[in-house]
Amino acid sequence: MTEVIAFHYTLTDDKGQTIDSSAGLEPLAFMAGAGQIIPGLEKFLAGLKLNEKNKITIPAAEAYGPRQMENIHQVPREKFPKKDIAVGDQFEAGGAGAPGFPMTVTAVSETHVTLDANHPLAGVDLTFDVEVVERRAATEEEMAHGHVHGAGGHHH
Ligand code: ZN
Repeated sequence: MTEVIAFHYTLTDDKGQTIDSSAGLEPLAFMAGAGQIIPGLEKFLAGLKLNEKNKITIPAAEAYGPRQMENIHQVPREKFPKKDIAVGDQFEAGGAGAPGFPMTVTAVSETHVTLDANHPLAGVDLTFDVEVVERRAATEEEMAHGHVHGAGGHHH
């Protein structure tokens, strides 16, 4: 049996700042074993009972990984079509035929722009306050589609 688990969550970083929350929205639903959420969080949720509230901190290494220096690039300013470039600006990088991925400007000098292609949550320990709101068997249709239907899932 493949299980569907739906949960509400508030995600905070290592400074206690809220990064994301499902409060006031639909819960997040996933199919167990399908790799749809962070593995450590999935394992934790699978051990909780219906309506149980709990909290877990997932180290960065088991979430979005460490920040990698090779994902930080120094690019000459003349490579940028626009003149006004500020810290925090985002650019889509990617060659012909390759999907673009966002890079964030982290520093600007007279000659170079520093672009960081790390995931914004790379290097951040993530704390999840969770409440399990549904546990049930996946339907045959969900199994065939490979995703959850209904609240917190896909609406066709
Ligand atoms: Zn579907």
